[in-house]
Amino acid sequence: MKTRMQQRSSLAQPTFTMNDLPHRSLGFAKKIGETWSDCRGGDCKAYQRRFLYVGAFGAYHTARAYWLLHENNSFNDCGILARNLLERIINSAFAAKSPTHAVELISHELNDKIRRLKLLDHGPNASPELTGSIADHEKHLHSFLTLINKSRAPDWSYCRRAEEAGMLGFYRSGYFNLSRYAHAGYEVARPEKHNQQSNTTDFIALVAPIMTVAQCHGVDCLDCAADKCLVHDEVKGILRACSLATLGNESGNME
Ligand SMILES: [Zn+2]
Repeated sequence: MKTRMQQRSSLAQPTFTMNDLPHRSLGFAKKIGETWSDCRGGDCKAYQRRFLYVGAFGAYHTARAYWLLHENNSFNDCGILARNLLERIINSAFAAKSPTHAVELISHELNDKIRRLKLLDHGPNASPELTGSIADHEKHLHSFLTLINKSRAPDWSYCRRAEEAGMLGFYRSGYFNLSRYAHAGYEVARPEKHNQQSNTTDFIALVAPIMTVAQCHGVDCLDCAADKCLVHDEVKGILRACSLATLGNESGNME
């Protein structure tokens, strides 16, 4: 029978190859995510739990799509999904900081959605359905703002979110590698560089499901808070293996 310490050290040192890692990353996210259940509450903590779960669920499915594209050598499309995954990592780390952070982020995103809908609700696009939908969203926004005692939705750009989450360097180096994929402007990859496999995007696709599900797990786990959690040890071990297999270092340094 292994002691808890022996269990922790053997879990912390997995040996995976690049061929195993997508399967390991997705399998781990599924295993941890499937244990989640909604508490049906209406306070900030309940919304934080939902936000983190939805983020982890989205990261899992986006990463699955990433590896399907990867198998078909569609590396340019992989880059587009990797940017989505990078943003999910940042959102999740930010929202895990506190229930208030999570509701501030939900308010920010809802406010932005209302702004975009209002831009549409003019001229030939205007409709009673759209106007009604805007009113519904505004009602929900008001409820979220009441929960955090604010009269306006806070403005949280991705840069500010990353800084608040202590991940500005991680975000900036990932964004630097991915920004050219997301826009239809002149800043696209040169033809000779088109569709090249990228270790950075592979790294992001491997770690996004793990990091987001770990945040989802962490807000409910007393063992995580006391730094004696086996799941947390497993997370650290897989993240190190992902980083080593893609970036050639154990720290997740993408530069
Ligand atoms: Zn834990």
